Amino acid sequence: MTENTLPIEEILIIRYGEVALKGMNKSWFERILLGRLTSALARIPEAKDYHVQRDNGLFTLRSADGKLGAGAVPVLRRILKVFGVSTVSRAILLHSTDMADICAACAAYMREKVLARGAGAGAATATTATAGGPLTFKVYGKRSDKTYPVSSPEMSARAGAAVLAALGDAVKVDVHNPGVHLFVHLRLGGVFIYDEKEEGFGGLPLGTNGRGLILLSGGIDSPVAAWLMAKRGMRIEAVHFHSYPYTSERAREKVEELAAILAGYCGNIRMHIINLLPAQEAIGKHCPEELMTILVRRFMMKIAERVAQERGLDMLITGENLGQVASQTAEALVTTDEAVRMPVMRPLIALDKTDIIEKAEEIGTFEKSIEPYEDCCTVFLPRHPATRPSLAQVLEAEARIPDMEALLARLTASAETVVIKPEGGK
Ligand code: ATP
Ligand code: MG
Repeated sequence: MTENTLPIEEILIIRYGEVALKGMNKSWFERILLGRLTSALARIPEAKDYHVQRDNGLFTLRSADGKLGAGAVPVLRRILKVFGVSTVSRAILLHSTDMADICAACAAYMREKVLARGAGAGAATATTATAGGPLTFKVYGKRSDKTYPVSSPEMSARAGAAVLAALGDAVKVDVHNPGVHLFVHLRLGGVFIYDEKEEGFGGLPLGTNGRGLILLSGGIDSPVAAWLMAKRGMRIEAVHFHSYPYTSERAREKVEELAAILAGYCGNIRMHIINLLPAQEAIGKHCPEELMTILVRRFMMKIAERVAQERGLDMLITGENLGQVASQTAEALVTTDEAVRMPVMRPLIALDKTDIIEKAEEIGTFEKSIEPYEDCCTVFLPRHPATRPSLAQVLEAEARIPDMEALLARLTASAETVVIKPEGGK
């Protein structure tokens, strides 16, 4: 068969790391991940001509005419944001396992996909060993079908020789430090050929690990905390507290915009927005000033727990981090934790701020988080917050607030709920 008549299809290979390890549950995880991929792609118009299918331990994305075209770039970007996806490759699928066809397909791939790209905008990815010199490469043959009569090293050698014969001086083999890693993966009935893998986030598909309520401020930490839990498969709802009119309308919009960035990963986020001012006023009136911060935090937790119970959610999530501020010393965390019975996840607890910032930058929330708008916590900041309040002291102060139960019920009921959709999405 000549290169032009080879039965070749352009595809994306979508791999899932940890899901593949899930023994008995594997099929369930795969089904959910397929659903997540399909619904993520349904939101972007470029994906309308493609479909994703299960394919022996991975997924492939294909089009009816066997060509991917320009839509593949935004589609690949979108797929990399789906939790559970470990890597994605642009590849060709050869519908033949004939060794002569494999050799011809490798030569065609190197000429049409790799060298062509090197001459154009993607030059940086196809690194030549010496500027202007031949492109160095190495073939990595692999067989999933062990009954295939050609061994993996033999397949690599024959494909490499075919590339050299077809492309002459333009290429050169370098097995130690190749510019191009040409993967040739033979499977039942076909061969994948590709030279790059783009990294996804890994994790587990959304919807495989319960539902949590993130206490979402406008800061750097809480969006990262929500993202980390969602990456482990948890569905997310959010609660946000403001102190209008002491906090502005714009501050609230900022939090909604942050939630919209998160929704790009987690799907629509139901956000419960609550004015905490009546609680802050009650605390201000009845309790010692230095305990204001810790008492406000306990109120937030108690109201969040009620919201979560009403919504049938499993746990609370916060962006708290050991020692970061006065309200997050070990003692303050014990006192905050005591306010609720529901489990509280604090995925950032032991991270350094620099690592949290790095993550925020990576997921795209950082720039929004640092926009300067007031938070309800800062509205009634005590001059000297107690950093090591004893639980007994805090409980005694809290007991001075009259009709606490009625206040909590009223504030919980006052929640305004909005559904936040992905940024710019439908
Ligand atoms: P962040 O960067 O998330 O705002 P922070 O370092 O400013 O965190 P605090 O303000 O003490 O810390 O808040 C600790 C956690 O309490 C936050 O990560 C968040 O989960 C929750 N929280 C704080 N303020 C609010 C708010 N206005 N609405 C909802 N949750 C809040
Ligand atoms: Mg904050």
